[in-house]
Amino acid sequence: MRILDGKETSQALRNEIADEVVKFKEKGNRPPHLAAVLVGNNGASITYVNAKIKACEEVGFSSSLVRLSDTISQAELLHEIDKLNNDPAIDGFIVQLPLPDQISEKKVIMAVNPKKDVDGFHPQNLGRMALNMHAFVPATPAGIIELLDRYNIETGGKHCVVLGRSHIVGLPMSILMSRNTYPGNATVTICHSHTRNLEDMIRSADILIAAVGRPNFVRGNMVKEGVVVVDVGITRVVDTTKKSGYRLVGDVHFDEVSKKAAFITPVPGGVGPMTIAALLKNTMIGARRRVKP
Ligand code: NAP
Repeated sequence: MRILDGKETSQALRNEIADEVVKFKEKGNRPPHLAAVLVGNNGASITYVNAKIKACEEVGFSSSLVRLSDTISQAELLHEIDKLNNDPAIDGFIVQLPLPDQISEKKVIMAVNPKKDVDGFHPQNLGRMALNMHAFVPATPAGIIELLDRYNIETGGKHCVVLGRSHIVGLPMSILMSRNTYPGNATVTICHSHTRNLEDMIRSADILIAAVGRPNFVRGNMVKEGVVVVDVGITRVVDTTKKSGYRLVGDVHFDEVSKKAAFITPVPGGVGPMTIAALLKNTMIGARRRVKP
């Protein structure tokens, strides 16, 4: 068994981006600028956004954080998005999910200018990605693709089972793995809460990508020998031995599944860091397009 080390791989990618930023600035360009919109005080969201802002600083990007009250109206939030869309100093921005109940996630996604949509959630980017055209690919699937690529994981002709069909992870992941390119060319099965014989599906996977948000959902007896496992899940589980009072648990029972897997991502230290690095890569692409549309 070999660990697919997201921490190390994301550091390599970040170093490459930092080098590119230096060259970009030497050519007289201002540094790439990522903005993040954070609505409310959700603990996990604050942690994620802070990690993204810190990552920007490390690679030499500019960044800004727009913090808004959780009582903000739909119209006010759309107005803030419009300001970012029209701000020439911003190359890309994200609106951290989840959003409060009074806000329509779909309306927010549709309001983001696709050229600044570094989260890749706008239908224009999702459609372009499906057609293998230049597009912002959602950061988590983009990070997973980068990880598979850098470990030279064979994907062509393999059976890839994706657990979960969210527009953030499962759905784009299934499209990417079935595209006619590397990493891709896999035969893909996408599973969700209506899937019958789920365990049989999981057992038939050469590559398993788990994104259901249920801690330790995939057990050792459900996978076949030699499987490649990518664990996207991150659930905060109460743990009084930790200073924070919780620990992060993946969708895959690591101790059991790692005994049979050829490759496996840990949680934490797998997909999470790759997601942040992929977001930085998307922002760099946005900045490059600003200079050379
Ligand atoms: P989500 O929107 O809640 O989607 C979960 C998916 O799993 C849904 O498609 C759901 O099916 C399916 N599902 C749930 N229970 C199931 C079951 N018992 N059997 C089969 N399918 C089941 O979640 P998400 O946003 O994709 O996130 C998934 C996990 O990844 C979460 O733990 C999240 O925190 C984590 N995540 C991590 C990163 C990272 O950077 N590492 C990024 C994003 C998300 P239905 O569609 O039928 O309801």
